Amino acid sequence: MGRNTGRLRQEVRDIILAAGASDVSIISPAPLKAEEIADYTGWLSREMNGEMMYLSNYLPLRQSPSLLLTEEARSLFSIAFPFPLFPPNGKNPNIASYALGDDYHDVIRTRLRNACKNLSEWLSKTFDMSPYVCEFRICIDSAPVRERLWALKAGLGKRCRNGMIASGSLGSAFFLAEIITDIPLEYFIDQYSIESNEDVNTKNGGGETSWAEACLRCTKCIDACPGKAIKDNGLIDARLCISYLTIEHRGAWKPEGEKVMQTPAGRTTLFGCDICLRVCPLNSEYISDSCHSDGGMENPSDNDKYKTYRKNETFKDKREVMPEFYPRPEYKGITRESIRSMSKEDFSRLFRKSPVKRTGLDGLKRNLNETDSETL
Ligand code: SF4
Ligand code: SF4
Repeated sequence: MGRNTGRLRQEVRDIILAAGASDVSIISPAPLKAEEIADYTGWLSREMNGEMMYLSNYLPLRQSPSLLLTEEARSLFSIAFPFPLFPPNGKNPNIASYALGDDYHDVIRTRLRNACKNLSEWLSKTFDMSPYVCEFRICIDSAPVRERLWALKAGLGKRCRNGMIASGSLGSAFFLAEIITDIPLEYFIDQYSIESNEDVNTKNGGGETSWAEACLRCTKCIDACPGKAIKDNGLIDARLCISYLTIEHRGAWKPEGEKVMQTPAGRTTLFGCDICLRVCPLNSEYISDSCHSDGGMENPSDNDKYKTYRKNETFKDKREVMPEFYPRPEYKGITRESIRSMSKEDFSRLFRKSPVKRTGLDGLKRNLNETDSETL
């Protein structure tokens, strides 16, 4: 497989990009070291996962992707699928931009299934392998995989203070998905970087300095977060995050969550939160919201460094949003009143194959966040 590696790499890359992705990086998924998961286990021990107890399950699998396959995992594709970012919808109940289109789990899984089939056929054709010997596992929020950490390690982007991964050509508004396979494609890893594999892993593998490369001295997301959920170490306290409170939390909010939901942003949110993505200068060219027209960085010299960072980025892909992720036209008609009077049948019809179905109609009505005598 060492022959014509440039051409072969491009062919593999093209197969994944043809699925609608805007970038892909590949890494050999050796088990994570204890220090690499220390931030995650520390986050759990501080109970910042709120009631998402499932996040503390399957820790060995989170550490070793090989446990997700029958055979040893030899390559992990970290794949970026951008979604559009929109300004808030005034006083109407706001739905996070990523959730205005079709459910990314379904869309991406279907497309990556096809990509795996094409990859398998390509391997068969190129290396005279049986198309049935390859094992693929597609992960899209569906398996215990440390997806952001793998994206960092693979060199797909850099770590940001708001916990996201940012790439110079994509910003940070993208879904991450993975394909884990027993095919040894690890030599593709340095394809999109001018650095060696070792350099990329050392540089992007987390730690105190990694986000500074993307964020510099910017703290806009920390300042803008309504519940102050973004901690100075780049961890998110889900219990104070509107996204968690409106999507993952079941039943009545606890007092600290209730307080966040009483902020102006909380009072106008129906599902999810875009604030830390929208205020981020790394995304400024991908949104048309006037509140981002101030140029982003707080310090002019930081702006210059930021441009240098972007110029030096080696990810060549254009940010392309798949049509499935653009807003469904029928969502324009959603108002507080329409949610208030919505039946279960209407909810199922309106949010069929949408991320919004996760919270259920009861959750949406709770998220209206109003008392009997009050409307906004
Ligand atoms: S999604 Fe919203 S509430 Fe959550 S961390 Fe970002 S800005 Fe804060
Ligand atoms: S808003 Fe600033 S600090 Fe936050 S992720 Fe974006 S660049 Fe980093």
